[in-house]
Amino acid sequence: MKIRQQFVSNSSSSNFCIFGIETTTDVIKTLFPHAFDTKIMVGCNHKFDRTTQKFCGECGQSAYKECQGNVHTFANSLMDGCIAKPGYYDEYFIGIDVQSKPLTKELQQNLEAFDTLIEQKFGQRCCFLIKE
Ligand SMILES: [Zn+2]
Repeated sequence: MKIRQQFVSNSSSSNFCIFGIETTTDVIKTLFPHAFDTKIMVGCNHKFDRTTQKFCGECGQSAYKECQGNVHTFANSLMDGCIAKPGYYDEYFIGIDVQSKPLTKELQQNLEAFDTLIEQKFGQRCCFLIKE
């Protein structure tokens, strides 16, 4: 993982370019205790009595399913349009995907706002994370 401090032109060899931070599961769990919570959700949208029937009569899905509260949901809750990609081991990259986005004034403003948000939450500034 190459870490750059400034905007670079997208090279075709890079397949990953986000403006954000690299962090770990432990840090996320400490700062956001519910980021990895398991959620119970309905298995399908059909209507039936889920207190007595384990499976849907129409489509056969379980009445309820367990969903791991994943880090994508967590990242999206930080700011619209940001992503988190699991890296090796327990590393996560939280930021805004700038791989194919033109650097408009709007994007620049979003990056600045995101940087401020990340600094408030994680105590570190964002940088450009590029994987080549
Ligand atoms: Zn169903």
